[in-house]
Amino acid sequence: METDTIIEATELRRRYGDHEAVRGISLHVGRGELHALLGTNGAGKTTTVETLEGLQEPDGGSVRIFGCDPARDRTAVRPRTGVMLQDGGLSGLLTVAETVRTWRSFTRGARPVTETLELVGLADRGGVPVAQLSGGEHRRLELALAVLGRPELLFLDEPTTGMDPASRRRTWDAVGELRRAGTTVLLTTHYLEEAEALADRVTILHAGRIVAEGSPAEVVAALPARITFTRPPLEPPRLANAVRDIDAETVGYRSRDLQADLAELLGWAGRTGTVLAGLSARPASLEDVFLGIAATSGSETGR
Ligand code: ATP
Repeated sequence: METDTIIEATELRRRYGDHEAVRGISLHVGRGELHALLGTNGAGKTTTVETLEGLQEPDGGSVRIFGCDPARDRTAVRPRTGVMLQDGGLSGLLTVAETVRTWRSFTRGARPVTETLELVGLADRGGVPVAQLSGGEHRRLELALAVLGRPELLFLDEPTTGMDPASRRRTWDAVGELRRAGTTVLLTTHYLEEAEALADRVTILHAGRIVAEGSPAEVVAALPARITFTRPPLEPPRLANAVRDIDAETVGYRSRDLQADLAELLGWAGRTGTVLAGLSARPASLEDVFLGIAATSGSETGR
């Protein structure tokens, strides 16, 4: 039966020899959602994604993509799914446009070549041999091929690794455009700002388990905001909603109410004529969540 649930994974488990890489992961991705799967190194992201793509079968639990088993019902699932190739597989001798044209010949309902290249910001590179593309351009060509067949579900496995900021922005723009057209996206990335910029929801894995999930705002909401500045000559105040820590050079606060604590601090600075050099105040980020996971789990790797 067709539903608005695109990915439904329940209690997934996957073991390599005596190492259990995925230890009971459940994931629900609705139509049109961009879901980011994040995690520390070796957390089980690739194993999970390959299981969702039907390339690996789980040892426990179940996966449904469009309500079908991706490993057993490949003919039903594959044409509706786009997967970005990783490294290689493309002839360096063909031009960018020739490559897209070749792939079009065996893709049902494919986008026109020009539209595809415009989507990924390669419209002016059509005549260039693939061997002459930069790493970032090559990655965007791989994205072009993944979306050629207008997939309903797109798997993006570290799509911007090695890209410069401009190339990354172009990729984000392309993903934004695909989203507006209703594409559902499962993204894995090590760039937390990428997840913050693009994702509706994130799932964070560590050692084969889910350690946090929700919208990026929900995931960081549990953590305090941060205020820092260079240590001034006068002892800085304690603030009502914050924990203070001072070292030789820096003053830091972990604040549960950034606006109130900042107002109190600035009031104190004004009254005492203190300059708060290098003042920075920011809410918690996904990076803080990651650092927290690393700090609380120590060196646990699940082995
Ligand atoms: P990274 O961010 O470092 O790419 P990941 O989150 O994608 O990691 P996986 O590649 O899924 O993690 O690996 C999870 C664990 O399973 C790791 O400890 C890894 O060494 C192990 N593993 C992955 N593939 C295999 C395999 N084919 N044989 C044995 N162990 C494997």
